[in-house]
Amino acid sequence: MNEDTLEQQLYDEEAETFRNQLATVTDDGKRNWVYPKKPSGRFHRTRIVISALLLLILFLTPFIKVSGHPFILFDFLNRKFILFGVLFGPHDFHLLVIAMISLVVFVILFTAVFGRIFCGWACPQTIFMEMVFRKIEYWIEGDSKDQRKLNVAPWTGKKYFKKLAKHTIFFTIAFFISNIFLSYIIGIDELLKIITAPPSEHLQGLFAITVFSGIFYFVFSNFREQACTIVCPYGRLQGVLLDRDSIVIAYDNVRGEPRRRYKRDEGWENRGDCIECYQCVEVCPTGIDIRNGIQLECVNCTACIDACDDVMDKVKRPRGLIRYASLNSIENKTKWKFTPRAIGYSTLLTVLVTALTILLINRTEFSVTVLRTAGLLYQEQPNDMVSNLYDLNLVNKTFDEIPVELRLENIKGELKLVGNKIVMQPQGNIDAKFLILLPKSELSRMNTPIDIGIYNGDKLIKKVSTSFLAPMKKKDE
Ligand code: SF4
Ligand code: SF4
Repeated sequence: MNEDTLEQQLYDEEAETFRNQLATVTDDGKRNWVYPKKPSGRFHRTRIVISALLLLILFLTPFIKVSGHPFILFDFLNRKFILFGVLFGPHDFHLLVIAMISLVVFVILFTAVFGRIFCGWACPQTIFMEMVFRKIEYWIEGDSKDQRKLNVAPWTGKKYFKKLAKHTIFFTIAFFISNIFLSYIIGIDELLKIITAPPSEHLQGLFAITVFSGIFYFVFSNFREQACTIVCPYGRLQGVLLDRDSIVIAYDNVRGEPRRRYKRDEGWENRGDCIECYQCVEVCPTGIDIRNGIQLECVNCTACIDACDDVMDKVKRPRGLIRYASLNSIENKTKWKFTPRAIGYSTLLTVLVTALTILLINRTEFSVTVLRTAGLLYQEQPNDMVSNLYDLNLVNKTFDEIPVELRLENIKGELKLVGNKIVMQPQGNIDAKFLILLPKSELSRMNTPIDIGIYNGDKLIKKVSTSFLAPMKKKDE
């Protein structure tokens, strides 16, 4: 290995050492608390509007009802899901599988093309942390410098008051959030019952709300950015999902290097646009330096873009030293293009979404299965009649209780239920047996096609076809 190559390798290794350590963990393994500076700028203002809109949707959706039922419900305990007012149950498992596969492909495609844009703009963790809890912290404890000072200051009445006020508000909001999330699982009516009835009547619900509130309070008051950098599987998958054509929040090293502190009378020749002001590092809620390159800790919050744009305005250089861009577009100074990988994912996603849409459009509210009872052929009956015994399975996917009756549609004969009248329970699954009796005169062949109508009153809700077995006619009959 020649000297130049060795020197370059040592330089590269040194430049990458930041990847050996989490910005939020000290050398001796302790927590390095991040005090991000208050963000401001055009991206932050837009994020405030979008976050407010998303929070409004999150908080109002449980109150929306369609025909008296929730608009959205994820009742995992009873395996009952309502999406946009349509009820889905265990019998829709195939739809769930296709929807999950589509979602995974969508996430992969979206990330391969647009990076972690979801984390910064729509993830509930980022929105609650940066737009709710962090804002309250700034309001009570001040900007990053004041927070640092307060944390190392001796415990005075003022410090007790600030800390108590902050944590009381934090816990109240965590309690509110846990109630909202619970309403997505058990429904707003059930939640209101838990809230209004004496606690002793709803110990399970009370326990669930307390646990949820405790978890949310811990995450937003203490765990914070570590939820994204340590726990979130999506964050940890970035290494395999992103490539050099993905759009990420990136520092333009071609334009920014060599970086150097800026002196007022100095020109911009033989230097980069980065003035080493560290504003991008100070605002970062995960404590990283974006100038080191793409890092899994970056949640795409855009704070560093705003901070750097502000600096560029002050030193009269063009904005966008940190911006949404792909690594290839920065290095080659080219425009972003649709890569073969993105085309492949898009094709697969289109196929899956088309299949899912077709299945959803053709999804019926009832499913009926009629099979001739196994092991039986036909039975000769008095009065020149022949009977076949059938097994019936009915699934009611609606919210309503529906009494049904069965009628022969295409042939004269008798249909006798074995047992009582059939009443389908909401989301119910019912098995029954019935006999079809046909006169021999109606049977010209061994296997006769039969249509059976399932009626609710006079309303035909489903029609199924089956076959009727009869003895072979002798030639002289
Ligand atoms: S804010 Fe911009 S100029 Fe300042 S250190 Fe960061 S990249 Fe460089
Ligand atoms: S690097 Fe920039 S975009 Fe990424 S988390 Fe830090 S401030 Fe936000």
